[in-house]
Amino acid sequence: MAQKLHQPVRMCVVCRERFAQSALLRLQCREGSLEPYGGEGRSFYLCPSCTHHKKTPGQLARQCKHGGTEMLMNRLKEIIVNDG
Ligand SMILES: [Zn+2]
Repeated sequence: MAQKLHQPVRMCVVCRERFAQSALLRLQCREGSLEPYGGEGRSFYLCPSCTHHKKTPGQLARQCKHGGTEMLMNRLKEIIVNDG
């Protein structure tokens, strides 16, 4: 069996598919705000195709107990732009 490179695999919280960790956007909620993962605390992953999935706002709201879905989605767009 051909084993791929020893890449860590993580699950996207929206589509629940598994991807190489490096292909995913790693996020976390800090003080009710959506942020790129800062090195500590709880984090979660989003795959590139789910950044505009219709289920994404609900999943972000589930991860971030504070904040409306609109605010969270706006923040997600900012993070993606800054990440590029
Ligand atoms: Zn996904």
